[in-house]
Amino acid sequence: MNDMAKANQKKAAKSGTGNSAARKKAATNKKTTAKKKSSAKKKAAAKKKSGLKKSSQKKVPISKRNEARAQPHKMWNESESVLNARAIRISNELRKIYGAKDTALDFDGAYQLLAATILSAQCTDAQVNRVTPVLFARFADARAMTAADPAEIEKIIHSTGFFRQKTRSIIGMSASLVEKFGGRVPETMEELTSLAGVGRKTANLVRAMAFGHPGLIVDTHFKRVAQRLGLVQLADPTKIERRIAEILPDSHWTEFSNSMIWHGRALCPARNPKCSECPVLKDCPFGQEQVG
Ligand code: SF4
Repeated sequence: MNDMAKANQKKAAKSGTGNSAARKKAATNKKTTAKKKSSAKKKAAAKKKSGLKKSSQKKVPISKRNEARAQPHKMWNESESVLNARAIRISNELRKIYGAKDTALDFDGAYQLLAATILSAQCTDAQVNRVTPVLFARFADARAMTAADPAEIEKIIHSTGFFRQKTRSIIGMSASLVEKFGGRVPETMEELTSLAGVGRKTANLVRAMAFGHPGLIVDTHFKRVAQRLGLVQLADPTKIERRIAEILPDSHWTEFSNSMIWHGRALCPARNPKCSECPVLKDCPFGQEQVG
C-alpha cells in the first residue's frame, strides 16, 4: 500500500465514519500501486530480455567502428565533377612544393625497397637509411637474406625497433620471393601482394618507385591529409585508395602520394597542422574550420 492509500485509510478511521468514499479511494490507490508494481516488473523483464538479445546480436567489426570514428571532418556538399576538379587543384598545388621529392627511403632496386619498407614500420626513414647500407652489403639479395643467420640480421637492424619481428618478416618475404619468383621482384599488384608480409601500400610503393607504374601509396599521412581535405570520409586504406583512384587521374597518383606524405610530415601533422601556411587552405574544409 502506498502512502496516499494509507493516509486515506487513516483519514477514514479518524473520521470514525469509515465512509465508503474514503474506502473506495484507498482501494483505488491500492489498485494503482499494484498496477505500477506489475508494470515495473514487466519493464524490468523486458529490459533483461532485450539485454540478452543485444548481447547475442552480431558485433560491429572494429574496422567498421574505426570507419565511423574516422568521419570527424565534414565533406563539402559538392558534385563529383567539382570534387574531381578540387582534387586535381590540390594535387597541382602540392606538386609545386613537393613534386620533386621521392620516397625518403634510400634503395637500389625493387628488392632493397621491399626490405627497407619492412624496416620502416614504426621507425624513421632516416634511421632505416643508416641501417640498410650495412644490411645490403652483407646480404645483397633475396637468396642471401633467406640463407642468413637471423641473429646476424637482428644485430644489424636492432636500432630500427621490433628487430626480431622485422627479421622474421624480411626472411619470410625473401623466402617467398625465392620460392615463387626465383628471387626476382614481380611487378603486378597480385604477384607482389602474394609475398609474405606485403600489402597494397608496399606493393604500390614498389610498383611506383621501382617500376614507374602509377600508384596510390596510402600510409598514415596520406590517410589523415585526405580525410582533412574532405576527399574521403573513409578509414580503410584500400577503400581510400579506390576512392582517390576514382576522383583523380592516374597521371597524378604517384606524385600526389609523395606530396600527401611529405605534406603530412611538414605542414599537416596529426597535431597542430599549420593551416595558415598551407598552400591548399582554400580547398580544405578542415583548414577553413581551423583558421575560422
Ligand atoms: S589546410 Fe590545414 S588541415 Fe588542410 S591540408 Fe593544409 S595543413 Fe592540412
